[in-house]
Amino acid sequence: MSLYTLGPAIAFTTTRRDPPSFDPLDPARWLLAKASLKAEFARLEQVHGTEVYFAQRATETPYPKADAIVTNRRSLAVVVLTADCVPILLADEKSRVVAAIHAGWRGVYNNVVRSALSHLYNRFGIQPKELHVALGPSIGSCCYEVSDELATNFSERWGAEYVSEKEGKSHLDLPGLITDQLFRYGVEFHRVQKRGQCTLCHQKRYFSYRGGDERGRLVSGVMLPEAQL
Ligand SMILES: [Zn+2]
Repeated sequence: MSLYTLGPAIAFTTTRRDPPSFDPLDPARWLLAKASLKAEFARLEQVHGTEVYFAQRATETPYPKADAIVTNRRSLAVVVLTADCVPILLADEKSRVVAAIHAGWRGVYNNVVRSALSHLYNRFGIQPKELHVALGPSIGSCCYEVSDELATNFSERWGAEYVSEKEGKSHLDLPGLITDQLFRYGVEFHRVQKRGQCTLCHQKRYFSYRGGDERGRLVSGVMLPEAQL
């Protein structure tokens, strides 16, 4: 997969490489370098929570504990690492702010999307309708089997339409629910892009934790380029 434009920003998700690189950000570095894009990287220690971190420079270990990362600095790529969870990338049209969200079931259930959108509004006055959003590759409802208890919890909090049953097992549609959460808070339909397929169905292309990839991670990020596009 390559780079794509997201409003005023550049976004990307890396693809599978075997064996996984020692530094998971390396494939993202290579991808941007190949396109002659100068970039530093800001990442998180992802904890399946709803905290938002505002990055003003590249991060170093120990990485900030959060699941959404925001910046307004040019050439600083904010990234999240996933292998089945949903990477969500956001870029604001007017004030030139970008954000990346890591959303697994806990984050989606506890509404990390709303946390990130609130942060963007409170800090920068950004309205959701001004955002361009991309959902990267993640496990789809085709493959995301969950316990009946979790399915019931989602159904009760978010609605029965995100839960389905296949061969007697409950399945959850995280990208579908995230998309509806985005719409609910005012993101516009035509500004949401689906980028990438089910990580488990297409494990040759992506890493999938459910598929047995314990170490490999896809890197999804978004940045404002140095020069005007
Ligand atoms: Zn699938």
